[in-house]
Amino acid sequence: MTRIHALRTGSVRIRPSQRERRFGGLPRVLIDTEWTEWLPIYAWVIEHSDGLILVDVGETARTSDPGYFPRWHPYYRRGVKMNVSPEEEIGPQLRSRGISRRDIRCVVLTHLHTDHTGGLHDFPNTQFLVSGPALRAAYGLTGRMSGYLPHHWPEWFRPNDINFIPEPLGPFSEHCPVTDDGSVVVVPTPGHTPHHVSVVVRTPDVTYFIAGDASYTQGLMLSRTADGVAPRARTAKATHSLIRRFAAATPTVYLPSHDPESEMRLATASTVAEAV
Ligand SMILES: [Zn+2]
Repeated sequence: MTRIHALRTGSVRIRPSQRERRFGGLPRVLIDTEWTEWLPIYAWVIEHSDGLILVDVGETARTSDPGYFPRWHPYYRRGVKMNVSPEEEIGPQLRSRGISRRDIRCVVLTHLHTDHTGGLHDFPNTQFLVSGPALRAAYGLTGRMSGYLPHHWPEWFRPNDINFIPEPLGPFSEHCPVTDDGSVVVVPTPGHTPHHVSVVVRTPDVTYFIAGDASYTQGLMLSRTADGVAPRARTAKATHSLIRRFAAATPTVYLPSHDPESEMRLATASTVAEAV
């Protein structure tokens, strides 16, 4: 039977104007003087008969090393605080649950921001699925300016492209199956980043929507509120509409990476419909 586990790889604080977009977008985030509460950084394990599938690999404790984040970068100077202990990294957490690298069929990355890729070093010889355009955008000067940290990624990191097939999955116009039975699929959820993806896991009882940062909370998806770092608010809101339509047609448990309620909704299989 397919099961999902939440692994909390430490905590992050951001500016309220990043969680909920305000007039001005990103520049507004950089002049905000408030902080959110500490928010979880979740990675996810899908237990499937084909093997284990991870969604994202969380953040690393090395973020507290001086100079880990580029000091010249305004977002890292002003916009974010991480708190990750070595035991909270994904590798140690999997080992303490008796899970070895060899048990993992593949790792899907929703996007390439630091708090979703910090644990990469623990997965050599593992198959990764990443949006090709997202990967190309992360390298080079524009990638660095956007806050990507590809210089911290392991030498061996050569992920496979997510190849979407142009067949709809509910309101999503394309999808990419991850398992042979088609019960685990990737769908495009652009907005937070231009090539952001989410992972849909169908089980006999409910469908789980592992949303990455498609929205920071379920409430913000339902109210179609873009975040403060999304390049285009309109794209994020269009994705929120698709997710709402998906969840209206199929009992769906919605699991964003930084929603303090995600773990509780997972444990109790609370669906989006129950919250509407
Ligand atoms: Zn992100």
